[in-house]
Amino acid sequence: MDFSLSKEQQDIKMAAREFAEKEFPQVAQECDENEKMDMALLKKARELGFVGTHLPEEYGGFGMSYFEKALITEEFWRMDPGVAQSILSVTFGSEIIVEHGTDEQKKKYLPHLIQGNGIIAGAITEPNAGSDVTMVETRGVRDGDEYVINGSKMFITNGTLADIIILFCKTNPEAESRHRQFSCFIVETDTKGFEANKLKNKLGIRASDTAELSFSDLRVPAENLIGNEGDGFRQILTLFNRERTAICAQATGLAQGALDQAVSHIKQREQFGKTIASFQAIRFKIAELATLVEANRSIFYRACWSLDSGQEDHTLIAMAKWFCAQNAVTITQECLQMHGGYGFLNEYDIARFYRDCKILEIYEGTKEMEKQVISNAILGKAN
Ligand SMILES: Cc1cc2nc3c(=O)[nH]c(=O)nc-3n(C[C@H](O)[C@H](O)[C@H](O)COP(=O)(O)OP(=O)(O)OC[C@H]3O[C@@H](n4cnc5c(N)ncnc54)[C@H](O)[C@@H]3O)c2cc1C
Repeated sequence: MDFSLSKEQQDIKMAAREFAEKEFPQVAQECDENEKMDMALLKKARELGFVGTHLPEEYGGFGMSYFEKALITEEFWRMDPGVAQSILSVTFGSEIIVEHGTDEQKKKYLPHLIQGNGIIAGAITEPNAGSDVTMVETRGVRDGDEYVINGSKMFITNGTLADIIILFCKTNPEAESRHRQFSCFIVETDTKGFEANKLKNKLGIRASDTAELSFSDLRVPAENLIGNEGDGFRQILTLFNRERTAICAQATGLAQGALDQAVSHIKQREQFGKTIASFQAIRFKIAELATLVEANRSIFYRACWSLDSGQEDHTLIAMAKWFCAQNAVTITQECLQMHGGYGFLNEYDIARFYRDCKILEIYEGTKEMEKQVISNAILGKAN
């Protein structure tokens, strides 16, 4: 067992760190306040090769492993979760095209995400279908060489920015198994019948766009169906595993960033004639939090390894996602506490991290859903 990073992996991590340290602090506060991503920064990140790293080389990507991608995610989230998410999420959903799309679909849609200005969104959640994705009501009905789509989606990252959307909808309500009723399509957002409205005033990751979408009699060519009718549920499960490991990296980066801020603050701030860092209660707290960050790192490395080695472990990934997210929330709360009243001011980064961390326990499966996956694996499904 070798836990060390290769020279190439160390270089990827350091390059991501340097870029984030140099660029993110300048824009983080403003992006948060204005709820906008910085398009110039996205362009720079693309030029430097930080976007779409997991995409195959033949389609313009770098063919990096999920672990290497996670190293970039961790470093970006350490400096600013909102800015990091706004940059790295622009390829969210592309994994479904990579793993289940045809050559034509890959050639048509993937290179633009890296070399062009392309942005993709993955649209699964609906107003009445969140944790239970089988409640999805958006319909895709075949009509000659096209499908007609009607319905709506909720909380879609990059919804108002994306030029293509991976749409999860119901095509086969008659299928006996609920899991065979759904399909995924590639939808171009300049198609008639598409509408996106930005959801404003989010608690955290405000630089990242979130929207509600509607589809009314929108026509998609049948060639934009991914795989076969009825494959959609299986396809989004593979996407969840990839994104959940990414969220472990997000959580670890965010927690490390919060800890760095706390360490810096307590070394400067003096009370009772000494720095706060000299009080044992605080020192022990730092020891505990640093240990939790390392525990996060260990389990997320292992979750990535399960993906990259072809031994995808659904239960381990659910464990890692729940554990890393929970630790990130705990760590960030304690790190804000060490800032005292200053942590309560929005001009301090820790206040923003505190708002940002909560999303980790909600998206890509809430913490309760992760525990359901884990307990089902141990105990079998409850009747
Ligand atoms: C900023 C943001 C970005 C997002 N991006 C995307 C995106 O790009 N694409 C996309 O498709 N979705 C996206 N989502 C949606 C996200 O995945 C859902 O919000 C999440 O899956 C939870 O669904 P819900 O909000 O409907 O909550 P609900 O499913 O209504 O759950 C509410 C609460 O009840 C609990 N609960 C539900 N069922 C059970 C049960 N059986 N046992 C115990 N507890 C239960 C949940 O854990 C949760 O705590 C995003 C959400 C946010 C906030």
